[in-house]
Amino acid sequence: MTITSTQISFDQQHIWHPYSSMISPPAAYPVASAAGVRLTLTDGRELIDGMASWWSVIHGYNNPALNEAAHSQIDKVSHVMFGGLTHEPAIELCNQLVEMTAEPLQKVFLADSGSVAVEVALKMAIQYWHAKDKPAKHKLLTIRNGYHGDTFGAMSVCDPVTGMHEIFSGVLPQQFFAPAPQTKYGQAWDPSDCAELEQLISDHHNDIAALILEPIVQGAGGMRFYHPEYLKRARTLCDQFGLLLIADEIATGFGRSGKLFACDHAGITPDILCLGKAITGGYMTLAATLTTTEVGETISAGGAGCFMHGPTFMGNPLACAVANASLKLLRESDWESNIARIEQQLKQGLAACAELDSVAEVRCLGAIGVVEMKEPVVTADIQPLFVEQGIWIRPFGKLVYVMPPYVMTDEDLATLTRGMCDVIQQYTAKSR
Ligand SMILES: *Cc1c(COP(=O)(O)O)cnc(C)c1O
Repeated sequence: MTITSTQISFDQQHIWHPYSSMISPPAAYPVASAAGVRLTLTDGRELIDGMASWWSVIHGYNNPALNEAAHSQIDKVSHVMFGGLTHEPAIELCNQLVEMTAEPLQKVFLADSGSVAVEVALKMAIQYWHAKDKPAKHKLLTIRNGYHGDTFGAMSVCDPVTGMHEIFSGVLPQQFFAPAPQTKYGQAWDPSDCAELEQLISDHHNDIAALILEPIVQGAGGMRFYHPEYLKRARTLCDQFGLLLIADEIATGFGRSGKLFACDHAGITPDILCLGKAITGGYMTLAATLTTTEVGETISAGGAGCFMHGPTFMGNPLACAVANASLKLLRESDWESNIARIEQQLKQGLAACAELDSVAEVRCLGAIGVVEMKEPVVTADIQPLFVEQGIWIRPFGKLVYVMPPYVMTDEDLATLTRGMCDVIQQYTAKSR
């Protein structure tokens, strides 16, 4: 397959990419196909994908089982409205989700993207307190350095600075922010880490519907890994003061952090759980918000008599069929030792980066490897260097990080981490 320079310049002139500019944006690399962990560009170059297309492609590209699921569903029905109708792919998927997640989570809402799953979670929490005749409990509490998506409700609980939505701060509903947890994963626990969270909750619980956070791994708001005790304490405080706990596991769900769900590091169960990204193995957009029977029934017993949300593409059968195949593949695999293997390889491979002057910290958890630089990198400058090394890594700010597909071999992981360290070294030598 070829792509013309006219097509590339059309792309640059007319098409928004994520967080892109309409004034002379750098040309995006054209992908012709992908298989396993490799992207093939239209000029024939192959790149080992360190990003799993933003956490999602856990089983690799062009996976035979997922292809088969899509092919066989497309010949039956690709989409049908979910209002008043149902279908086997959705039933099977929700059954798997209920089985895989903690026992209290019994009610599933299928959303069409992660951000929508977060909106749904926030609306559930607000509707819950409304139905309990406590409408004043409609604010949200979160922790700094969080990222929960790009829609308005989700933006309001993103970190006001690192969450990429500072411009909108005047328009967004004002929520409560506790400092980000400071005790890192693996460090000795410091109980004072929760002091401000505790203070905020005890001062404002009458106004707060829920605490929303990313358990253990804070993703796009800083790629930080924090102590499970923080999460345990947050759960206790929510119970004590009557707040719902919303766990946003859109990035961490399905094994990424080394546990099936990041909440498992702390042994806690949220009242509302958001899932997305890896759910279809990166084939299609789909997300889910799960909640307890108590929350589901309370909402439904309220004045509205139902939960007030229903997207056009809710429960898309094609996406559900692929998600079913993806979760089945995951559950039939020894994902736990596989993720431990990747963690080991990332730690070993990225150790060399820690020696570099320009690097502030290297940290790995599960199938996530992060090199935090002392200074922000210029993506447009560093990106071509990765491509020259035959690897695909997309840094932001000070963070150069990878979360590879779970099927990546030790050899490819070694190429990926070696390339990452080499490029960081080259880049900082050049920009000095
Ligand atoms: C990616 C992400 C979202 C948003 O999901 P989209 O599918 O991009 O809308 C929300 N929360 C977390 C933790 C995420 O990583």
